[in-house]
Amino acid sequence: MTRPLLPAGNSRNLAFVKSLKDKVALITGGSSGIGLGTAEVFAREGAHLAILGRSPDHLKTAADKLRKLGAQVLEIQADVSQEHEMKRAISQVEKEWGQLDIVFANAGINGVWAPLEELQPEEWEQTLSINLTGTYHTIRCSLPLLKKNGGSVIITSSVNGTRMFSNTGCTAYACTKAAQVAMAKMLALELASHKIRVNVVCPGWIESDIDEATEKRDLDKIAPAVEFPEGAVPLTQGAPGSAEQVGNVVLFLASDLSSHVTGSEIWVDGAQSLLQG
Ligand code: NAD
Repeated sequence: MTRPLLPAGNSRNLAFVKSLKDKVALITGGSSGIGLGTAEVFAREGAHLAILGRSPDHLKTAADKLRKLGAQVLEIQADVSQEHEMKRAISQVEKEWGQLDIVFANAGINGVWAPLEELQPEEWEQTLSINLTGTYHTIRCSLPLLKKNGGSVIITSSVNGTRMFSNTGCTAYACTKAAQVAMAKMLALELASHKIRVNVVCPGWIESDIDEATEKRDLDKIAPAVEFPEGAVPLTQGAPGSAEQVGNVVLFLASDLSSHVTGSEIWVDGAQSLLQG
């Protein structure tokens, strides 16, 4: 006999329950792309939002959008690669709400994609300092506040470096994305006793601003000799996913629906990485 999802007589209508009501969420890279898409999903679920980014103008535009959805929003201008700026950012959250329940460590750049011999040390360093060290600062600086009540940390990694290795030239980027998964698994164990869960989303091709700041140099020199199957995203006949589709998975990982899930990665790519590996 199949059991009903809710006990008989339970009239609670899940559609009207706001799963993040009064939870405080910090979203790095929250003024655009996947960060903003997720912030919108969180706003509809009743969360208070601290959105963090480098451009005050972008932060303001995003915050106005989120306030129209009914959210309380704190705009934080900071660079995730700078420890003192991230410490200040967390102090701002503490001053505003006195708690922190969800950390979405999402800020990142593609950086320079180039043959290794042409990739300059400062270009390598920049990708690592924002994507990897930035994730470290974001989580580390959040811990004193997160430990008060427990919480959920979600990191944005990628298909690159986790299940896809065919974008030859994005070596620095892929290394940071692989390391983020290792970081999540290490911290899932370390922080479990504090009731802090740590999980990862690995998006495939998602519509966002990230390509605008990507510098690609001489990639034709290192293109692999094999031809990969055509058709980038099987589930959508080649179309990209949306930030909201990633946001819905982040919502699951942020909410109590995933209360027994930690140290796990979820690919949000419409099977792109299974095809393109
Ligand atoms: P995006 O460019 O729209 O968003 C990135 C955000 O990070 C921007 O708001 C940017 O201002 C912010 N940011 C960059 N450097 C920062 C710094 N030093 N300090 C603070 N904020 C900084 O692009 P997106 O696609 O939404 O990227 C979000 C995350 O998703 C990134 O980690 C990226 O690697 C990952 N990702 C994106 C895709 C995709 O196809 N769009 C696929 C896989 C993974």
